[in-house]
Amino acid sequence: MVRALLTVPIHRVVLIGPPGAGKSTLTPALIARFGLARIATGDRLRAEIAAGSALGREAAAWVERGELVPDGVVGRVLRACLAAVPATDGFLLDGYPRNPSQAAILDQELRNSGLALTRVLALEVPDAEIVRRLSGRRLCTGAGEPWVLHVDDAAAVARCQARGGSLVQRDDDRPAVIAQRLAVYRSETAPLLERYRHAGLLRTIDATGSARAVRARAIAALTQ
Ligand code: AMP
Repeated sequence: MVRALLTVPIHRVVLIGPPGAGKSTLTPALIARFGLARIATGDRLRAEIAAGSALGREAAAWVERGELVPDGVVGRVLRACLAAVPATDGFLLDGYPRNPSQAAILDQELRNSGLALTRVLALEVPDAEIVRRLSGRRLCTGAGEPWVLHVDDAAAVARCQARGGSLVQRDDDRPAVIAQRLAVYRSETAPLLERYRHAGLLRTIDATGSARAVRARAIAALTQ
């Protein structure tokens, strides 16, 4: 394929960050810039829940409480997503792994295909900023493809409403659930950073400031 002929490096990236770090805002730019497939376990789980599938019914209670879905269930999601990406293509994992045993599952899955991660990008944001971002986060629905905005962004709110859309809050963006998701991140996901630092894969970036500035830092971290 074209990438192989041009010997452009294949990126197999994990994006890690607390909820509200801006992973979904950043992801489109990274996948476009580096030609990556996006694997977002949270999106996939929400789609399964909305569709009322067996997997969705298994996962729903955990997602609603802001807790991690059991490794076995989310492992099935991971395998299905990885199987859909040709080995010659790069990918960006958004939301997986979220604990050390998921990281081991991921390593094993990749090893089975003769692959390995090339980089882990960790987004850093202070807790107070996370709470502000998540409690004001809304999805504009009913106006084309749903998109994320913040209630403080008057122009975005007006754009959504002018197109006949309505603002919907994710159930797990309610304050009590935000606190739970943050606690889960600190206790279960953050320890992964040490593992990836040790493996020489980790790049941390400051994820405060404008989306444009964060994007530039992320692209630089994946290019260096
Ligand atoms: P996200 O959209 O990535 O914030 O994920 C939303 C919710 O889906 C999380 O709070 C978890 O309940 C669940 N989830 C997503 N990815 C995983 C994962 N890798 N392991 C366990 N639960 C997950």
